[in-house]
Amino acid sequence: MAGPASQYDVLIIGAGLSGLAAGIRLAHYEKRVAILERHTTIGGLNSFYQLRGRRHDVGLHAVTNFRPPTLKPLGPLAKLLRQLRISWDEFDLAPQCGSRVVMPGASLRFTNDFDRLQSDVAERFPDQIDGFKQLDAAAMSADTFDESREFQPSRERVRSLITNPLLEDLLFAPVLFYGSPTPHDCDWRQFAILWRALYREGFGRPRDGVKPILKTLTKRYKALGGDLWLRHGVQAIRSNGGKTVGVTLDDGTEIDAPHILSSAGLPQTAAMAGDAADLPTDPGPLSFVESISVLDRPASELGYDDTVTFYSTRDPRAGDRFRYANPEDPCDLTSGIACSPDNYQYFEASGGPHDEGCLRLTVLANPEYWANLEPDVYTREKARWHAAALDAGRDFDVLPDVTGAQASHVLDTDVFTPKTITRFTGHPNGAVYGSATKIRDGRTGLDGLHVIGTDQGYLGIVGAMLSGVSIANRLLT
Ligand SMILES: Cc1cc2nc3c(=O)[nH]c(=O)nc-3n(C[C@H](O)[C@H](O)[C@H](O)COP(=O)(O)OP(=O)(O)OC[C@H]3O[C@@H](n4cnc5c(N)ncnc54)[C@H](O)[C@@H]3O)c2cc1C
Repeated sequence: MAGPASQYDVLIIGAGLSGLAAGIRLAHYEKRVAILERHTTIGGLNSFYQLRGRRHDVGLHAVTNFRPPTLKPLGPLAKLLRQLRISWDEFDLAPQCGSRVVMPGASLRFTNDFDRLQSDVAERFPDQIDGFKQLDAAAMSADTFDESREFQPSRERVRSLITNPLLEDLLFAPVLFYGSPTPHDCDWRQFAILWRALYREGFGRPRDGVKPILKTLTKRYKALGGDLWLRHGVQAIRSNGGKTVGVTLDDGTEIDAPHILSSAGLPQTAAMAGDAADLPTDPGPLSFVESISVLDRPASELGYDDTVTFYSTRDPRAGDRFRYANPEDPCDLTSGIACSPDNYQYFEASGGPHDEGCLRLTVLANPEYWANLEPDVYTREKARWHAAALDAGRDFDVLPDVTGAQASHVLDTDVFTPKTITRFTGHPNGAVYGSATKIRDGRTGLDGLHVIGTDQGYLGIVGAMLSGVSIANRLLT
C-alpha cells in the first residue's frame, strides 16, 4: 500500500505504548484502524535507538506492576496482556534484584515482595508502622477509576497517617519520581496506582530492553490488520458541528474517521483540534536529564547492586525536605534516580546476564534552560552536568566513582535532556509526565475525539497501555 486509506473507523495519533495497545484492541474487534506517527520509529517516550554500535533504551528503567499471572488475584499487567491476547512469556520479564530509597538518616529497601519494605519500615520507624499499614490499606482500597477531573492531593492523607517527615519523604520520592506531573505532590488516585505498581507489585525488565515489548505489540497489531504509518504527522483534527470527522496530515492529506484517539498530549491535541475540543493547554512543568554510562563489566562489579535507587541528599530531620520541582539550576543535583539494567535476575533461557554493564542516572532538570542553548554550548553543558550528577551521586555514596577511580571502565556515554524529549515526542517542555491536569475519562469537547496515554492520567509503560485499552473498550461498547 502506498499510503493510508482515505477512511478508517478509528485513527490513533501516536505509536507510543498507549496508541499501540489501543490499536490492538480495536483491530481485534475488526475496526479499520490506522496509527499515525510523526516520528520515524515507534515507542514515543519509551523507544530505543542505536548509537555507536549499541542499542539504548530511551526511557526504560523498569516495567512496573511485576505480578506474574501465577499469582491470584491477577495484577493489572497480567489482566492487560489478556485483553491484548499476548502471553506473559512474550514480554520475557525478569524480576528485579532489589531497589532502595535513600536519604540522610535512613534507607528503605523494596523488592517484588512487599513484606521486605514493611519489615524495613517496622525496623527503622517502629512508631510509624501502624500508620504505614493503614496507608497501605488506604492505597489498596482507593477508587483509582474515579474519573473526576479535580486534583485530589495526597500529602494531607499521607500526613494523617505518617507523622515522621523522613518516612514521608522516603515513601513519596519513588512515587513522585515515577509518575507525578505535580510539583511536591501527586493526585491521590495516582499515588494509589503507583503505590501498588512500585511497592506492592514491583519491577521487571526484558533482558533486551523495550525493543521486544514494542516488537511484540507491533507484530500483534499488524497481524490483526491494523495500519501503522510512521513519518505521518497529524497537523489538524477536523470537525463539523461538534463532531470529529478526520485529520489533516502534515503534507496536507486528509483522512476521514468518526473516532480519533490522541496520545500527543493535551497542549498538542488542543492545538490540532482548536477551541471546540475545550482542552487545557498547560504543558506540564517537570522534566529530566538522563545519562547513560556503558560499562565494560556489570555495574555490580563496580559496587552498584541496586536495580533502582531513588535518593535525596536533603535531610528531612533538619527540615530540609526532598524537593520535587522544576529547578532554577540546569539540573537539581540534590536528588536523582539511579538504575542499572544489569541488576535483574535474567533467565539463562533468555541469554543470562549481559557482558557489558550500564548505569543510568536521571535528575530533575530545568526545561527552559536546556531549550535555549546554542548547539556547541548545549553539547558542553550536557557533558558538564552528566559528570556533576554522577559526582553528586558518588559523594552521597549511592553510585560508583565512574568519573574518577573507575572511569576507565566507562566505554561510552550518552545524555538526553528536556530538549531531546521534545524533539522526539513533541511534548513541550520535555514534560515526561505531561500536563498537571488530567482528563481521566478521556473525553474532550468534540464528539469522537478522545485523549489517551499520559494526559489521561495513566503513566508509565503499563499505565499508558491500560489507558489505550480502556478508551478502546469504551468505543467498542
Ligand atoms: C527518561 C524516561 C524514563 C522513563 N522510565 C520509565 C520506566 O522505567 N518505566 C515506565 O513504566 N515508564 C517510564 N517512562 C514513562 C513512559 O515512557 C511513558 O509514560 C509512556 O511511554 C507514555 O506513553 P504514551 O503512549 O502515553 O505517550 P508517548 O510515548 O509520548 O507517545 C506519543 C506519541 O505520539 C507521537 N505524536 C505526537 N504528536 C503527534 C502528531 N501530531 N502526529 C503524529 N504523531 C504524534 C509522538 O511522536 C509519540 O511517539 C519513562 C519516560 C522517560 C522519558
